[in-house]
Amino acid sequence: MNAANYTSWNGRDEDGYLILNKSTIHDRVYHDLRDRTELPANLCVRAYSKAIGAMKSTVETWKSGESCLLPRFNEPSAVYDKRTVTIKDRSATLSTVTGRVAVEYVLGDYQRSYLGDDEYERRMGTLHYDEGEDAFYLHIVLLKESEQRSGDRILGVDLNLKNVAVTSTGSFYDGGRLLWGQNHYFRVRRSLQDKGTRSTTQTLRQLSGRENRFVLDRLHTASRRIVEEADRHDCAYIAIEGLTPIRENMRGSNRTVQRQMHSWAFRELQEMVAYNAAEYGIRVEPIPPAFTSQTCSRCGHKSSTNRDSSTGWFECKECGQEYDGDYNAAKNIGKKLLTLPSGQRPDGLGDGQLALKSGTVNGSGDYTTHGATP
Ligand SMILES: [Zn+2]
Repeated sequence: MNAANYTSWNGRDEDGYLILNKSTIHDRVYHDLRDRTELPANLCVRAYSKAIGAMKSTVETWKSGESCLLPRFNEPSAVYDKRTVTIKDRSATLSTVTGRVAVEYVLGDYQRSYLGDDEYERRMGTLHYDEGEDAFYLHIVLLKESEQRSGDRILGVDLNLKNVAVTSTGSFYDGGRLLWGQNHYFRVRRSLQDKGTRSTTQTLRQLSGRENRFVLDRLHTASRRIVEEADRHDCAYIAIEGLTPIRENMRGSNRTVQRQMHSWAFRELQEMVAYNAAEYGIRVEPIPPAFTSQTCSRCGHKSSTNRDSSTGWFECKECGQEYDGDYNAAKNIGKKLLTLPSGQRPDGLGDGQLALKSGTVNGSGDYTTHGATP
């Protein structure tokens, strides 16, 4: 409650206007909230998000010409998400300022019917305290997974520094602009050295200045486009480079920090793609990227000399085929999913077909052009 109030009191700019931008609010109040309230990080974020929600509706009221007061949060409440609440059948555990506590709860038949339904995922809850009755209420938000689409078509996606993302259907996203400024590298590096144990991920989150937002913005756009591309090609699966562990090195050179920042960006992108794809019922399958840039997607010849690392151009020493190296890698990533042995294939994939620019190819290499009857 106090955390949300603190946010709305401090959520004004120099001219007195309410700030509704989440990252600006974050920069302004997050550290204060952590210092002053002892709330865990997730709850601080929840608290200021709640305040922003209320501030937005205040602004709407003002716009309609009516006057109303700044939002106040009088009712004691705390908002919980997946990480701060675990809802079991008879009890829930909640993060509090004194650690996690387990509480038993009382259910009516109506609540029981939904909580017992496996199709609903328990997403987040709001804890309210009713002084009159001296009782706590936990409001739980349930989410039903959207139907997974059927079909066996796959979109292959390669992630790289030059284009950010390239698909097996030949779409390229945001060529070469995912680059932070030198100053930013320097600030991240210094911050890593100052704080000693903190990870790059945390540091980047905290130094969430203009440059981080710029990059996140690009990644959001790229992730949406990748999923739209999959949708346009009727794909039920996206094969994407698997999550690569970030090797932390605190005393990094600018180059190391640069690499860490890029792998941070890729992880963000991978998560965004998974999140956006879920809405379409498209499944995302992580694929180990080993050799996908050295192998010819046409004849399968594997050699480190196939690809010119300075230009990124791929020329097969065996069959002579030439492509953009990242486009070739995207096709290979899709093919890896296509040719997984039966035990490792995702349920429902069936034979599988990889979506290409002008048609599809199956696991045995048979090509079907768009429009041709299968
Ligand atoms: Zn070849």
